[in-house]
Order: sequence, then structure tokens, then C-alpha cells
Amino acid sequence: MVLTHTYTDLPERFYQRTNPATFPDPELVVFNSDLADNLGLTFSSDIETAQILSGQRLLPGSEPIAQAYAGSQFGHFVPQLGDGRAHLLGEINGLDIQLKGSGRTRFSRGGDGRSPLGPAIREFLVSEAMHALGVPTSRSLGVVTTGEMVYRQDGPEPGAVLTRLADSHLRVGTFQYFRHRNDLQALELLCDYTVGRHYQEIACSKLADRCLELLRAVAQRQGDLVARWYAVGFIHGVMNTDNCSMAGVTIDYGPCAFMDEFHFTKVFSSIDQQGRYAYGNQMTVAAWNIQRLADCLLPLISDDPEVAASRISDALTDVFASFAESVYLAFARKLGLPELNSDVEELITDFLRYLESHSLDFTLSFANLGRLCEGDTKHYVVNSDLDAFLRRWKDQNPDLSQISAANPSLIPRNHQIEKVIDNANSGDYGHLTELWNALKNPYDVPGKYRHFTGPPRVEERVYQTFCGT
Ligand code: AMP
Ligand code: MG
Repeated sequence: MVLTHTYTDLPERFYQRTNPATFPDPELVVFNSDLADNLGLTFSSDIETAQILSGQRLLPGSEPIAQAYAGSQFGHFVPQLGDGRAHLLGEINGLDIQLKGSGRTRFSRGGDGRSPLGPAIREFLVSEAMHALGVPTSRSLGVVTTGEMVYRQDGPEPGAVLTRLADSHLRVGTFQYFRHRNDLQALELLCDYTVGRHYQEIACSKLADRCLELLRAVAQRQGDLVARWYAVGFIHGVMNTDNCSMAGVTIDYGPCAFMDEFHFTKVFSSIDQQGRYAYGNQMTVAAWNIQRLADCLLPLISDDPEVAASRISDALTDVFASFAESVYLAFARKLGLPELNSDVEELITDFLRYLESHSLDFTLSFANLGRLCEGDTKHYVVNSDLDAFLRRWKDQNPDLSQISAANPSLIPRNHQIEKVIDNANSGDYGHLTELWNALKNPYDVPGKYRHFTGPPRVEERVYQTFCGT
């Protein structure tokens, strides 16, 4: 399999050509052989796999680059971010293949270009779990330790490289990079590259129309994506524009987490002190991020900023208006109700309020709805709110045969991930493999993995997650 390249057809100012760092002793931690098979990648041994997944040997056709991008981080614009610790090797079957933690680049700023093992494992498990849950996401091919230690707040940790695949690594922040430099030629190239790669249905001959269609399409995909996050209780944690994918897939897993107890305002990330990226804010943030993309495309839409702004507003109004509906629809599906109306919306809101007021487990409360109908109240607080919900829900004639496919019983719970990482840091990868295997069937969990479905005991609870950068 020979890697191909389209990004390097863009001018040199879009990226830096740079090779991964040299590492003393790469060793394989986990390898996704099913994904490798699907991609037509074959390696002759674990040693070869570790060499390739740490960038010590390059796949045929690799031309490693670090991509330039900017980003709004927690609302503040940073003109230059870029791949400071990642190397895009090329494309395989139209997907980007990228190493993360593979060394310094021109975009590293003060960073060491490294990743500790813990965050690489978290991204591996959570991205693969998201895929199994049916949420659009980057995939993980494997994790390799480098043989180096990296130094973070809590002292030395094993260094690691994660290999990931994504529809692309084009971000809202890529557009911001060129808009900040007032490089309209680059913006036009980027717009057309994005359309060619992800939105081939857009065929308008006028640039302004292509930009508006692109905006609408990206907004739609982001809205659909974030609605799916809501439906599985996922909190991305760092929804900065540099982590907002133009292809509409989940990328850049950092201090992300799945909720155990349901709370609209739930935050896990240690760096999100204002709760900007709290669970229930994510759809608002998605719209904010799309507005930043609109700012970038504005000069391509009209020379007159007022005309451009009004065309953007016309293009986005109905898409933004549908964001809330996408969330309700996702929850209606979880309740076995195919259609929305005001009663269904109220039912959803009241059920979520009930879960929140009793701090009930999000995943188990939905996964056991079928049993609840049969009178099994084990996972619920029995009170008049529950009675009222059941009565109103049954009045809507839910299709109970549909709900198990809409409600996973297994999510990658923080306390399980933490245990896996603790074990891995002392060289034991058995738990990692077991949890990963369990997460492959979240809607129909085999008996041997049922023990992973429970919420944490009080002493196992994880209150914060860290990006580990
Ligand atoms: P992230 O929080 O991983 O989305 O990264 C935000 C920005 O910081 C990106 O430009 C990264 O490339 C950069 N970055 C994060 N960690 C490091 C590191 N250890 N060394 C260099 N750059 C980094
Ligand atoms: Mg990022």
C-alpha cells in the first residue's frame, strides 16, 4: 500500500515538510489489526509495526508534513497553532494517516512535541468506542511507547505515539490561519480543497455561492455530530475551533469524557474552569465555531462586508434553528419515538430533568427503559415524576423494538479508562485489550463484558480529566 497526497498540492505555506523524531526503543502497546486489514496495511511483525507506528520507518509513499492552523481557544484567537506534535504521513483510501506525539515541528512553540502514554491510550479507546457507537470520528490504528520518558506536571511518564486516521485534519482553525494573514488566495484554495474532499455535492460555479453552501454543509454536519454526542453523553472537553473538523467528525480527543451521572452543566476538563464546553453548551459552541468559519469566508462572499454578512445570515439561520431539533430528535430516537412534536419535546425535557434531579446514570437510565416498561425499576428513583413520565411515554406508543439499538449499555467510563492507564504505565496492557474488546459491541454487550457496564463506586469516581499536553 503506497500513501498518496493531496494536501501537498497546496502551496508550501499550508504546511511544513518535517520528519518524525528519532526514538530510542519503540514498543507496541496496542494495534488495531481489523482497521489495518480494512486499509490494506500489512506488517510482518510487531517490531516492524512499532517501527512504523512511531515514525522510525516510513510507509511507502510517506511525505510527512505538519499542517499550519490557527484557532480560537476558549474564545481567544491564537494566530498560530499548527501540528506541534503531529506528522501527517499522507493519505490512504482517502483518509489522512497521522502520527501524534511524534516530535517537534515548526509549530511546536514551547512544547516538546511529545505525548505521554496515558492520553494516547485515552484517545485510542474513546475514538474506537465512538466508532462502535456510530458517532463519526477519527479512528485509531495503534499506540507505541517510544522508550523515552516525557515530563509533565506529575513527573515522568512513558512517551508514546498514537497513529490515527481521519477523513481529514482540516479544521475551522485552518481557515482562520489564512484569514488572519488576509491571504484570500489561500482561503479560496482551501475552500475548494475542502469541497473537493468532503462536499463534492457542492457544484456552484460562483465562489461566493460555493462558500455559502460550504458553510451550510459544515454547519449541518457539526450540528448532526454534536447531537450524536448528546445522545451518548459525550463531552469533548476542548471544542476550540482548531479542534473543529471541517469534515464533521470528532477529532482531537483530549480531556474528553462520557458522563456517568446526568447533569446538563457537567464538565470534566481540568482546563475548562468556566464550563464553556460543558455537556449542555456543546451545541451553542458548535454554532459559535461555525460563526468563526463564516468570519473567514466573509471576504470571499462579497467585497461589501454588509452584503456578505447578510448572505451568511440568510444561509445559516435555518441550519442553526435546526440544531436544537437535532438534539430532540436524537433523544426521541432513544425513546423509540420516530417523530417530534411539542409533547415529545416536553417529555424528553422532563425525563432529562428527572435524571438530573436524582443524579441518575445517563447510560443505564436509557439502556434500561425496556425493562422499566416491564416494571423493573432497579435503575430509577420511583416517584410521581417517574410515574408521570411512564404514562406520557406509553401514550406516545414507543416502538420498544427500536430502543436497544439507540441506547448503548456500554460506554468508556472514566474510571475504567483511568485503571487501564494506571496499569499501562506499569507495563500491563491486558486491561487495555480487554476494555477495548468490550467496547466493540456497546449496544449488545456479551455477558463476559457486563462488568464494564456499571457506574463507578464512590471511591472510583473521576471528577477531572487532563489533556496531558
Ligand atoms: P491540543 O490541545 O492537543 O488540541 O493542542 C493544541 C495546540 O498545542 C496544537 O497546536 C498542538 O500541536 C499544540 N501542542 C499540544 N501539546 C504539545 C506538545 N507537547 N508539544 C508541542 N505542541 C503541542
Ligand atoms: Mg488540537
